[in-house]
Amino acid sequence: MLIISRFLFTRFLKTYSGITLFPFIILKHGKNEIPEYNFNVLLNHEKIHFYQQIETLIVFFYILYLFFYIKNRLKGMTHFAAYQNIPFEKESYEFEKDLSYLKNRKFWAWRKFF
Ligand SMILES: [Zn+2]
Repeated sequence: MLIISRFLFTRFLKTYSGITLFPFIILKHGKNEIPEYNFNVLLNHEKIHFYQQIETLIVFFYILYLFFYIKNRLKGMTHFAAYQNIPFEKESYEFEKDLSYLKNRKFWAWRKFF
């Protein structure tokens, strides 16, 4: 289910433009507010997270997400680098521009990004 909420991102998630909290994908900008290509890439990024959440029974997505973030921080990474190096984010960033990626994506594909 797609929700557009500028409020969430101006008030809380200032540096982000999308978040997936199963069963919701929440984006900062609607389809008519940003270039269509940017919207599609952003939506694809979040849809990849949507599938990752389903295949980790949702709760394990958040546990693993936090685990990898903390692990990366303990390695000395900055907040942003730690976030970008979470396997779930690495898969999403790697394939967000491939708009047909989800059609051929394998189950637990994020494991390749450990
Ligand atoms: Zn992401």
